[in-house]
Amino acid sequence: MDLPVDEWKSYVFQKWSLLPKSIQDTIATADALRDIFLHSSSLLQPEDEMFLNNLSRGYFVGKDPNAPPFYREEGNKKFQKKDYVGATVLYSKGISHSRPHTVDISLCYANRSAALFYLDQYEMCLKDITRAQMHGYPERLQPKVMLRKTECLVTLGRLQEAGQTIRDLESNFAAKPTLAAAQFQILQRNLCRLKRKVQEKGNLTETYTTTVTKTFEDMDLREENEQISSASSSVSLCIDPLKGRYLIATKDILPGELLVKEDAFVSVLNPGEMPPGLHHGLENKWDTRITNGDLYCHRCLKHTLATVPCDGCSYAKYCSNECMQQAWDLYHQIECSLGGLLLTLGIFCHIALRSTLLARFEDASKVIRKLYSEISNKDMCSPESENLVQILNYDLGEEGERHGKTVKIPVPGCDINGKYENNYNAVFNLLAHTENHSPEYKFLCALSVSALCRQLEAADSKKPETAAPPALYSELNIWGVAMLKHMLQLQCNAQAITTIQETALSGSKENNVCNSRQIRLATGIFPVVSLLNHSCSPNTSVSFSSTVATIRASQQIGKGQEILHCYGPHYSRMGVADRQQKLRSQYFFDCGCPACQKEKHRAVARPRWEAFCCNQCGALLQGGDILSCGSMSCTESVSRDHLTSQLQDLQQQVGIAQELLRSGKLEQAVQLLLECRHDAESFLSAEHSMVGEIEDSLAQTYAALGDWQKSATHLQKSLRVVEVRHGPSSVEVGHELFKLAQLFFNGFAIPEALNTVERAEKVLMVHYGPCNDEIQELQKMKSCLLNSPPIPLGPSL
Ligand SMILES: [Zn+2]
Ligand SMILES: [Zn+2]
Ligand SMILES: [Zn+2]
Ligand SMILES: [Zn+2]
Repeated sequence: MDLPVDEWKSYVFQKWSLLPKSIQDTIATADALRDIFLHSSSLLQPEDEMFLNNLSRGYFVGKDPNAPPFYREEGNKKFQKKDYVGATVLYSKGISHSRPHTVDISLCYANRSAALFYLDQYEMCLKDITRAQMHGYPERLQPKVMLRKTECLVTLGRLQEAGQTIRDLESNFAAKPTLAAAQFQILQRNLCRLKRKVQEKGNLTETYTTTVTKTFEDMDLREENEQISSASSSVSLCIDPLKGRYLIATKDILPGELLVKEDAFVSVLNPGEMPPGLHHGLENKWDTRITNGDLYCHRCLKHTLATVPCDGCSYAKYCSNECMQQAWDLYHQIECSLGGLLLTLGIFCHIALRSTLLARFEDASKVIRKLYSEISNKDMCSPESENLVQILNYDLGEEGERHGKTVKIPVPGCDINGKYENNYNAVFNLLAHTENHSPEYKFLCALSVSALCRQLEAADSKKPETAAPPALYSELNIWGVAMLKHMLQLQCNAQAITTIQETALSGSKENNVCNSRQIRLATGIFPVVSLLNHSCSPNTSVSFSSTVATIRASQQIGKGQEILHCYGPHYSRMGVADRQQKLRSQYFFDCGCPACQKEKHRAVARPRWEAFCCNQCGALLQGGDILSCGSMSCTESVSRDHLTSQLQDLQQQVGIAQELLRSGKLEQAVQLLLECRHDAESFLSAEHSMVGEIEDSLAQTYAALGDWQKSATHLQKSLRVVEVRHGPSSVEVGHELFKLAQLFFNGFAIPEALNTVERAEKVLMVHYGPCNDEIQELQKMKSCLLNSPPIPLGPSL
């Protein structure tokens, strides 16, 4: 996903292995990015480009005039089955393949408006009706959508507009008495009904509030930092020869305090799994599966069911015309014709291109030209930042005069006034670690960027009028070097933008207990977030809304302490050896965080969520390959291999049970899960993560069966395992508490529900702040619980 597709990767690695040793050496030992780029670029042959273009053609990113009728048909099938969400997405796919101002596009919009209507999305429904009409919706079908429009307006309480639409309909209709008698009657009846509805609503004294607006004020930083944009004044930027740039607390910070709120400098949506059929042949050409690319705006990443496509391709889709226009102006006019190539070359290459396209809007050419003329690129600074200095108190080390002397060090990425901002200069100064990457990797990146540059050139020469400023094309080599730098930076500086996707637990529609899952939505660059160093047990928590990242303190941070976040390998998810390996290979450093030191030096026993216990007495087992019972009075011993294979068998059984649950065979699922739990008790510790998974599945199954009480009992056991593993105030515990609160709420267990709602709120507030969807949901539950009358014991009439 991040890197190019495997076919291109192995092609390039093969090419590398066949290069003469002398050329390999030249590229491997080159210090300057320019030399790596120019050498690699000169090796790119027409047949290489042909191979790459063939791969790119596997992605259908253009508009296919035969696709809209197909998708409309498929959408109608879903619609008939009352799967309105599925129908909406298929109509959207049809829309994205249609040319503007065609019957195809107008029909797809009209059908989508119907699906949205049934999903109670009236505002979006109205927009789609307007779009259908704008693209030339057939006259004879107009009454249908105008009736729908009236229904929406009535429901939204916009009665004047509703009345006007009815009058329009009536006059239209009188002018064209071409409708068949039967149609005429239906229309008349509907009109009467709607007129009555308008009247009834008009008589109501209450006015409807059309939309509930969320207040985002409390999401803002209390006091913005003068030195670092997007950061709070509670932090300050430091630099140190060993640690590089980092942030410290300038005052005592409480859990939940907002420290950074930064919009991505650049982000690219992760399109989701591309179906293999699409990639390789023409079979199953029109895919009906739903991916992230169908559900999220390609610019602002907002979730939407009613996407608006780019006029030029079927790939880029947006939440609104505004987003489409902005994306077009900023980068998509260049990217539009390169869709297949960008998917083939991967997200890192795409971000590299988009960053340089965005740089055109800043005065960045000086910075980039400097890079091009650089002899050696080792940790170079931009010309601006060289004259600027940061006053710091730090120890000079062995040969320095140890007087805690004030030393001036330039802080890379700052402007002439010493301010660090979310801009291209800051992005440009993120470390590329050129010397740490393998020569093959550098060759892959350089060759991919070269191929991209040639395509840009070719695309430019085909256009009669140049859409992009000539600077980009006349200095394509210079910009190519910048793109190569970005690609190399991304391995250490790319930030995954995640979102919580909620899926309703299996069972009836009324059952609104949700299972939340974190998914990776996009990859972005956040220059301010990038200032934070890593810890396997960080003191902050990161979350995303649209393209904005927020970092909050997850615990108390004392004045002077470093602000740390986790790059991925968290101590509660990975053992110390795996973490160290991951951090060394991806980020090129050895982690010395407290969690790592503790685990390395104390040779700690395996954590409880991985521990086996004695079959005879239940005590924890200890040891390496052969495990023996920890209890003095017991002589039981067993090989680790045996237990590991027993665990694998259990895992398989649990998988089968979860499949039964998904396919609605609930009784069978319960049966099997209870057996699994019995089995687990015989050799796993009570806090083993597998035990937690079984309990969680049991909770889901009982919820689907409508047995809230049993469901809650099992969820509480799963919660205990999560608590042991991730800590009582972790975001993972927050999500479990949220589920538990929903269960108690649905089961009318009011005191338990209130208690759990408050616990969940407290934990989630620290990580997400007040605007989070789950927090809002919890608050709604709370007010409902506090106002709820005593439960009626029977029908009260
Ligand atoms: Zn958008
Ligand atoms: Zn496009
Ligand atoms: Zn660590
Ligand atoms: Zn024992």
